[in-house]
Amino acid sequence: MKTAKFIIFSFLAMSCVHGINAQTQEQKQADSAKIIYSDYFGENTMRYDFHHGGNSTDEYYLFDRIKREGAWAGSKTSLINPFEYGEQHFRIVDTESGKVIYKNNYCTLFNEWQTTPEAARVSRSYPEALIFPEPKKDFTIQIFARNKVSKAMELKHSHSVSVSDYNILPSRIANEYIDIHNGGDIEHSLDIVLLPDGFTNEEKEKFLASCQMWKDALFAYSPFKENTRRINIRAVWVASPESGISEPGHNKWVNTCLGSRFFTFGSERYQMVEDFQRVRDMAAMAPYESIFILTNTDKYGGGGIYNFYGLGSAGKTGRTGEVYVHEFGHSLMGLGDEYVEVGNTVSAFYPADKEPWEANLTTFVNFEGKWEDMIDETTPIPTPFEQSMLAMPQHELVTGAYEGGGYLEKGIYRPTPLCMMNQLRDFCPVCRRAISRYLDYICK
Ligand SMILES: [Zn+2]
Repeated sequence: MKTAKFIIFSFLAMSCVHGINAQTQEQKQADSAKIIYSDYFGENTMRYDFHHGGNSTDEYYLFDRIKREGAWAGSKTSLINPFEYGEQHFRIVDTESGKVIYKNNYCTLFNEWQTTPEAARVSRSYPEALIFPEPKKDFTIQIFARNKVSKAMELKHSHSVSVSDYNILPSRIANEYIDIHNGGDIEHSLDIVLLPDGFTNEEKEKFLASCQMWKDALFAYSPFKENTRRINIRAVWVASPESGISEPGHNKWVNTCLGSRFFTFGSERYQMVEDFQRVRDMAAMAPYESIFILTNTDKYGGGGIYNFYGLGSAGKTGRTGEVYVHEFGHSLMGLGDEYVEVGNTVSAFYPADKEPWEANLTTFVNFEGKWEDMIDETTPIPTPFEQSMLAMPQHELVTGAYEGGGYLEKGIYRPTPLCMMNQLRDFCPVCRRAISRYLDYICK
């Protein structure tokens, strides 16, 4: 079970997988169709709210509402996400032409909940919301999720929208944010928004200090430090009624603006927000693509889900910065955890006969699509691991395929013994390349 990972490392990573160079059918279609942004989209953001429910075997989607929001902060060139990362993706299809004009990939908290024992007993739902550039003409939104066995993407939900529908809610949220780092223009940069939770009015400066620390941590690591001129970091300030973060397992409940809590899925260190629509409401105060929540607690914990949000404790001293960056590796592009949980031999996330979609894990089902090209021909595959490697200077470690990763001891392989996604060290060469490619895509 995936949540077991928190017991050992206490920070989460939900990733969504794939082959790095894979060019999807949608990308090929988009290339051939030559989608011009201004032909199909305006300058603002549209948001589709729904409830994602089900149990361990079934899932369903209930439409909630559509909103218009502020300026579109994403690329106007990269409209069809070519990576196959994620447990889910969604498409915007132009009604008149039938063309796929936008596609993005993601994972959700519901995807993780489906793997918990609770999901075998009850059905439940989570509020979710997707954002995309506002279409000028009528469209259909299609939501896909992976088949539990084959891992192939299947259409789960389809909703046709008339852009003249008077029920589409107008934007009511003013842009109100604080610049933490100005890298480049919105269109060609990765736009990150930092959100506070559990900070009262008197604690605004404490939150802003945490934002600076978050920025310093991110820019301490390659390849982010080489890309400071195409990353923007903005902070939104909303005070919580009470100070601190809820800990349900200790009967501690705190009234905060986002409702972050420890003990997600019964794991004390797994700190998350269940209501993603609340998160998007706050994030909409700034132009954004990627969300990270800083919580007012010194208790160790956090989480990160691909194209959903990352979350970390703002008050913990010690390795807080590394945990921020680790979680951001999950939330930005779904990097997988490269660590092992001793005794863990089976995972619903990583069946041995399927290639994980994460860029930094492989089962050798499709190693060519991963980092096989980065391995020297003298390096044996699999690559033997010795405990002494953990004490070696990181640059002396050879990129290979070391058994263990994704919480499993056997049958899955990681690029090196040391990485941010394992021991909170520098990103390994494979993760660095994958992040660089992802930034190239986002900032195009
Ligand atoms: Zn790595």
